[in-house]
Amino acid sequence: MKDYIVSATAAGAQIRAFACTTRELVEECRSRHNSSPVITAALGRLLSAGAMMGSMMKGEDDKLTLKISGNGPAGSLIVTVDSLARVKGYAANPAVVIPAKPNGKLDVSGAVGNGTLTVIRDMGLKDPYVGTVDLQTGEIAEDLTYYYAVSEQVPSAVGLGVLMNKDNTVNCAGGFIVQLMPFASDEIIEKLEENLKGISSVTSMLSGGDTPEELLGKVLAGMDIEFTGTMPTEYHCDCSRERLEQVLISLGREELQSMIDDGKEVEVGCQFCNTKYVFQVDELKSLLRKSTRD
Ligand code: ZN
Repeated sequence: MKDYIVSATAAGAQIRAFACTTRELVEECRSRHNSSPVITAALGRLLSAGAMMGSMMKGEDDKLTLKISGNGPAGSLIVTVDSLARVKGYAANPAVVIPAKPNGKLDVSGAVGNGTLTVIRDMGLKDPYVGTVDLQTGEIAEDLTYYYAVSEQVPSAVGLGVLMNKDNTVNCAGGFIVQLMPFASDEIIEKLEENLKGISSVTSMLSGGDTPEELLGKVLAGMDIEFTGTMPTEYHCDCSRERLEQVLISLGREELQSMIDDGKEVEVGCQFCNTKYVFQVDELKSLLRKSTRD
């Protein structure tokens, strides 16, 4: 099954909902960063949420960034997405290995620790919209639920999951975001809560062969679901040599000069996709000239 996002409304538009399958893109992220299972799970959940949140954006050039800054061994996790649901992400420490939880599940909250979740919406205005909340559990889905409630005042239910194979590749990944519109009735809210209690985990639904449509069908059972569209989603990095030049320039003239004095070529890797860019000393010199001019 190729990665995609499905959107829907239910209960006469009192609910809007999204679900996705993201195995391919999470596996691509894993292989690019050679990440450990617990980091793949953490990043995979954040990438899945990011993909759905990206698909909700209206403007062609809109960008959204999810940043988790925790005090756990993973360090910070960053995911960026555009309005075509093209996502990319990385963890500060991709190789973290910690013991599983007593129930055998990967300990994502243990890797993340305590800290904050920040959502940055860049809609081409002068200042991006930034919302930060404290992490509630570090399991990511609950943290996004809390973010939506507190920062955007949109009551939501978020489910995310990544299941790993024994060989550390990704077996399945995906999730859902269900949101209540301001005019949702108490009856609908109760019904949704009841449904959410009754469903199994995202990974057991996906690994059991459920499509995103079937997943939403279970979350919104008996609520007159209407599917409104699908959108492909993929891992995509838009880095370029020019962008990495800017990174080098941003290090400052002193740093550039000291690289030039070292007399060796410099290799700079893109944090999001691990593509390596090599700069020769002559190129560093011309960057220095550029930065002096600016
Ligand atoms: Zn890149």
